[in-house]
Amino acid sequence: MNIVLLGAPGSGKGTQAAMISGRHGTPHISTGDILRQAVTDGTSLGLKAQGYMDRGELVPDEIIIGVVEECLREEDCERGFILDGFPRTVAQAESLEESLKEMGGSLDVVLNIEVEDEEIIRRLTGRRICGKCGRIFHLLFDPPRDEGVCEVCGGDLYQRADDTEETVRRRLEVYKEQTAPLIDFYKRKGLLRNVRGEKSAADVFEHVQETLEGIRG
Ligand code: AMP
Repeated sequence: MNIVLLGAPGSGKGTQAAMISGRHGTPHISTGDILRQAVTDGTSLGLKAQGYMDRGELVPDEIIIGVVEECLREEDCERGFILDGFPRTVAQAESLEESLKEMGGSLDVVLNIEVEDEEIIRRLTGRRICGKCGRIFHLLFDPPRDEGVCEVCGGDLYQRADDTEETVRRRLEVYKEQTAPLIDFYKRKGLLRNVRGEKSAADVFEHVQETLEGIRG
């Protein structure tokens, strides 16, 4: 299946995408992960993207559209794909539609994960990540045994530059202004399915699975 995951930052798109990918073997394409890797590697894409990302703004459409087009061509997308964090603007959605049409495909479903703002702020500002193994902790919901230290590998924990409260609030504003219009865009096309995202990742995944099965028929 060709799936798009829509939802505010911190709604759990990445977690659900990884779970769907794990269960069905569908390639998971996360534009946030691609951009963060480019920043770490210091590539020209990373240099262009970093300022926008640190401010909680969107990277310009012309940059990210090219990245995703290349990815769709390169990935083994025969078994479909899960797009996580793309599209985030109407222009991106229109370009995705065009690219898929050229490749003889189309989207099957857009899963919109819904979570209240205050819960998002709690989730993101408390998130801490291990710099060595990538394990994600949460200061309130899943704290490490020793402050600042990963209990899996002993690596140092860090906070993503865009997970500070000020930047999270900016990311939410950007989401409402530029990304939320996609909810109507995909509703009109009959592709949208809403999933409540406040419960545990396993409970949300159960609902996601039921929704996907309903579509597969
Ligand atoms: P994420 O991990 O999906 O929250 O993405 C982190 C940051 O990467 C976002 O705040 C944006 O700056 C940038 N980004 C990721 N995906 C896109 C996209 N589709 N369009 C523009 N910017 C993006």
